[in-house]
Amino acid sequence: MPIDATQPYDDNNIFAKILRGEIPSNKVYEDDWAYAFEDINPQAEIHILVVPKGRYVSWDDFSAAASDAEIGGFVRAVGEVARMKGLVEPGYRMMANVGAHGGQEVPHLHVHIFGGQPLGPMIARRG
Ligand code: 5GP
Repeated sequence: MPIDATQPYDDNNIFAKILRGEIPSNKVYEDDWAYAFEDINPQAEIHILVVPKGRYVSWDDFSAAASDAEIGGFVRAVGEVARMKGLVEPGYRMMANVGAHGGQEVPHLHVHIFGGQPLGPMIARRG
């Protein structure tokens, strides 16, 4: 079920539990600002989620309320994960779903990184 991205942060969301180590995840990268792990239901050969360590519901919340240091640290972490996985030369895609129309299901900001294969059209075609 897509979430309402205007709701307050819920400390019981699944990615908060992953960040606290209460639920296992396949870690790819971690630094002071971000944690990256494999998506449980990959949509490409490589499908990684990168989340900020701070309590932000969505890209909207993060871009409005996070500090410059948090934003800088998170953006650099997303780039670092792509480099670590060798995705820059073949290319990759990153995506952050926001709210109902975006299809966001987990109310903690996450950037998807897709790669390891040609990724096809940017978005589902209009019917
Ligand atoms: P959204 O639709 O919110 O942008 O994407 C949520 C993503 O989180 C989905 O791709 C889904 O497969 C992934 N996901 C949901 N629950 C878990 C989980 O418990 N562990 C991991 N690793 N990924 C999850």
